[in-house]
Amino acid sequence: MARDTFLPFSPPSIGQEEIDEVTAALRSDWITTGPRTKEFERAFGAYVGAPGGTSLMLNSCTAGLHVALVALGVGPGDEVIVPTLTFAATANVVEHVGARPVLVDVRPDTLCIDPEAVAAAVTPRTKAVMPVHYAGQAADLDPIFALAERHGLHVVEDAAHAIPTTYRGRTVGSRGNFASFSFYATKNLTTAEGGALTGDPELLEKARVIGLHGMSADGWKRFDKSGSWEYDIEMPGFKYNMTDLQAALGLRQLAKLAGFHARRREVAARYGAAFGSDERFEAPVEADYGTSAWHLYVLRLAPLPGLERNAFVDELKRRNIGFSVHYKPLHMMSYYREKYGYRPGEFPVAEDAYRRMLSIPLHPRLTDEDVEDVIGTVKEVAAEQLAGRRGHLLVP
Ligand SMILES: *Cc1c(COP(=O)(O)O)cnc(C)c1O
Repeated sequence: MARDTFLPFSPPSIGQEEIDEVTAALRSDWITTGPRTKEFERAFGAYVGAPGGTSLMLNSCTAGLHVALVALGVGPGDEVIVPTLTFAATANVVEHVGARPVLVDVRPDTLCIDPEAVAAAVTPRTKAVMPVHYAGQAADLDPIFALAERHGLHVVEDAAHAIPTTYRGRTVGSRGNFASFSFYATKNLTTAEGGALTGDPELLEKARVIGLHGMSADGWKRFDKSGSWEYDIEMPGFKYNMTDLQAALGLRQLAKLAGFHARRREVAARYGAAFGSDERFEAPVEADYGTSAWHLYVLRLAPLPGLERNAFVDELKRRNIGFSVHYKPLHMMSYYREKYGYRPGEFPVAEDAYRRMLSIPLHPRLTDEDVEDVIGTVKEVAAEQLAGRRGHLLVP
C-alpha cells in the first residue's frame, strides 16, 4: 500500500476568507499593529474566556513566554521548572532571562509534566513552573496550582497546543496567570507566525509594554489621531508586536476554529478506533479531567522486538505519509546536557516515550481516504517490522 502523492504532516487550512481579509488589511493603510490586532485580541480573549475578555497579541508564543517571565521578574539566580518533553522554546526563554530551567519528567499516560516530579524539584530558588499542554491535552493543573500556592510560585502555561483545551470544565487561558498560545504555521489556528498571551489584565498591560520597546501608554497608537506623540521608555523592552496582516488571517481562522476542531476530533476518534485495541501500538487517550485540542496525534510503538521507530518513520516517508516526532527531550540536547550535566536515563518516562513515538497527520484537511491511507500504511509497516522483514526489500 503506497499513496501516489505525499500526504503532508500539517499543512495550514487557509481559504478565500483569509485571503480576502489579508488583502483588505493590505489596502487599508494600516498594515502593522492596529485595529485588526485589537479586534483579534478581544475575539481570542472572548474565545478562551480570558479575564478581562481580552488578550495580548504578539509575534510568537515564544515571545509570550519570554515577556511573561520578564513581567514576573524572573531573572538570574531563579529556577523555573519545565518538562523535558517539550519544544525548546519553553526552556530557551528561561535562559533568555538568565534563570535556570530545571527539567523534570512527564507522566506516562498524558506525557504532560508530572506534578510529583515538580514537587520534588522545588527549591528555595524556584520562581515559576511552566506546564506544557502536550499535544493539546491539559497538564494536570490542580496539583500544580496547589503546589504553586504553597511555595509562592508563578505558573506560566505553555499553551502552544491548547486551542482549545479544557481542564475540569475551564478553558485553558481563562485563569489569571499567564498562558501563551501559538499561531505558528502548523498550529491549530495560524497567522503564519504569531502568538497570544492571556492573564490578569494588569499583568497583561505590563507584558504589552515589555513586548513593545518598553514604551508607555499605547505607543502603537501614536500615528493615529487618537494617539499622543509623546511616550516614555520604562525599560528596554522587546519588539514582539503582531501586525494587522497576521491579525487579519487570525480573525478568519478563529471564525473557522469550531469546524477545524470538530474535524480534528473526528480524525482522532477514527485513529483511536484503529489503534486503541491494537497491541502493537499505544494510542493517546483523553484524560478524564478535560478535553483535548487534538493538536497532535502521538502514537507510541509497543515495546516489542522488531518494532523500531527510526526505521518505522523512514518507511512511512517512503510510502508518502508525512510524520514528525514531538519531541527529542531537552535533557538530550547538547546545550542543556553540557551546561547542566544531564545524563541519559535521568528522565526515563520521557526518554522511553521519545524512542517509541511518532506523530501522524492530524489536521482539518484530511479526507476520510487520507485517514484510511495513514491507518493502512502504519499497520502495514508494523506488520512487516514484526515479521522481521525490511519493508524496502519488499516494495520495489
Ligand atoms: C510551537 C511551540 C512553541 C513556540 O511557538 P512559536 O509561536 O513558534 O513561538 C512553544 N512551545 C511548544 C510546546 C510549541 O509546540
